Amino acid sequence: MRIFKALYCHFGERHWWPGDSPFEVVVGAVLTQNTNWGNAEKAIANLKKAKMLDAEKIAKADLRILQKLVRPSGFYRQKAKRLREVARWYLEEKWKFLEDELLRLDLLGINGVGEETADSIMLYALGKPEFVVDAYTRRFCNRHKLCCGKRYSDYKRLFEDNIPNETALFNELHAQIVELGKNYCKKEKPLCEKCPLKWDLEPERLRK
Ligand code: SF4
Repeated sequence: MRIFKALYCHFGERHWWPGDSPFEVVVGAVLTQNTNWGNAEKAIANLKKAKMLDAEKIAKADLRILQKLVRPSGFYRQKAKRLREVARWYLEEKWKFLEDELLRLDLLGINGVGEETADSIMLYALGKPEFVVDAYTRRFCNRHKLCCGKRYSDYKRLFEDNIPNETALFNELHAQIVELGKNYCKKEKPLCEKCPLKWDLEPERLRK
């Protein structure tokens, strides 16, 4: 929570994830796989322009048309197929009756939906308290040796075991970590001297 507070004071509220509807968030979670958000946004803009950002339309869409629209997000052949699968899943509305654990497993059963995508959908589209682990999260945890394992579930547990399991908190903390990764904890040459976590992540403070 100290890390969260330091980031929140520095960046302010992030209002992440952008999207006009839960389904748009679902689409964004698929399109941002293996690419940056800017490319996913271009594909979302194409879908909007073509009036295709709709679960029923995507579920029935011609694959070649869908591929063309999502091309800016890369891996467009796989992503077009995935989008159709996810749209069909979305239309089944299982989140209305399945327990969170089963719902997450159900999502993971869709071809091409891994843990990060499933948790992004659970948290940001469906409002379920599942912490999202992305490359930014792993990077800052690894640099400070915060996590004992290397699996997705090890990082997820690190957060879920140490902070209150609340959707709004998970949402905001993940968004703060994204800002940290983009602005300070960069892949090459992290800007540690200017980082808002410079003091909070010192080994002595972490032990307290
Ligand atoms: S102090 Fe450096 S390594 Fe740690 S989170 Fe900040 S930028 Fe990353």
